[in-house]
Amino acid sequence: MYRPGWHRLRLRLQRGWSTVVPGTTCLSWLTSNQVLHGQARTTVSGRLCLCTSRVTNSPRAIKPVARPALSAFRHLPRMHHHHFASNPLDRLSTKRGDSTFLAKTLSDTSSKFLVYGGHRILVTKDRELALLSRLDLETAGGQSLFEGGEATTLVFLGVDSRSIAYWAIDGTGQLAGLEEPLSQKGLSFASSRPAAFGFCSFHAALFSQAASLLDWNSRNRFCSSCGGRTSSDDGGYKRTCPNAACVSNKGIQNSSYPRTDPVVIACIISKDGERCLLGRKPVWPQGMYSCVAGFMEGGESIEEAVQREAYEETNVRISKVWYHSSQPWPFPAQLMIGCVAQAETEDIQLHDDELEDARWFTREEAREMLSNAEAHDAPATGLFTAKPYAIANTLVKSWVNDTFESRQPWSSPQARI
Ligand SMILES: [Zn+2]
Repeated sequence: MYRPGWHRLRLRLQRGWSTVVPGTTCLSWLTSNQVLHGQARTTVSGRLCLCTSRVTNSPRAIKPVARPALSAFRHLPRMHHHHFASNPLDRLSTKRGDSTFLAKTLSDTSSKFLVYGGHRILVTKDRELALLSRLDLETAGGQSLFEGGEATTLVFLGVDSRSIAYWAIDGTGQLAGLEEPLSQKGLSFASSRPAAFGFCSFHAALFSQAASLLDWNSRNRFCSSCGGRTSSDDGGYKRTCPNAACVSNKGIQNSSYPRTDPVVIACIISKDGERCLLGRKPVWPQGMYSCVAGFMEGGESIEEAVQREAYEETNVRISKVWYHSSQPWPFPAQLMIGCVAQAETEDIQLHDDELEDARWFTREEAREMLSNAEAHDAPATGLFTAKPYAIANTLVKSWVNDTFESRQPWSSPQARI
């Protein structure tokens, strides 16, 4: 029933029925882009009204609310916001070919620049990502960073909600002259890998995009098809070979566009669901154990890669694989595809010597390892798992806390290795 000044619309949302009361957010699902309550409303996803004002119109002003078709998605995993992901910038990929637009943002005084080079990143005195204006860099002696040519690579990252543009600069070879003037502003170059782990979510996402693209540009200065020297185009998202007869200029070629390397990483759970399998690499800090992981191979599905890696590294056979979530890993350009897998066997043998040890851990043991991983530095004693900025931590945590939401097997592999 609707009354002036009172809105008793009952909505069937994902988690059941709810009642919208005056002065609260109206989550009306619309049958079209309607005008409700005599006022224009913003619609989200085409059909969702997010009005927050008091409802005053008669019931006739509101058409019957369509039942939202969310039930079909109820059992899908929720979104996980990993470190290095959740980039809020609009990448404006359709504008990358617009040289006038790019030139305008390059010269705009409000544009911000991330400075990278030789696997080092410019940071502030509190170890956050430094984002400078063009004037800041030119005042510090960095005019040559904007002159183009082979010495510098510029990558357009996108714009924020205020339309401020963000760029990344690879100034390898020119950074030495900038260090002293920038240090007077409290800025310094830090090794990018440890520094990026400590960035806030926004800066980590910016770094992830920038480092992956700059690294790809630096490794593709010569055409992989004909050997010709390539040039950077499309705001740093394409390398072009000058040889018109080169196959890389015929249609869309993988050699011309940035690559991302898929890696599977799996929290392997025993058949009874009460233990998880974690291993350790010799290069890891003493006491660290984490999930089985490895690069995917050509012609391989995600679930097959999980099967193969589990067997090669631990001898354990996998019966089921569920996708969990993914995380960009910009060292240099991996995508970590996080899975939860059910083991069919438990006998451990280290076939490929990639791990120096692998063990089954109980839920309590894993919980303690997660707690130890929260410490900033590795504890002197005790075992710990991956740090919270890594997807492995989230995967183990989802099992320990029983928060993994999918109840349907993504795959029940039949094939055996
Ligand atoms: Zn070529």
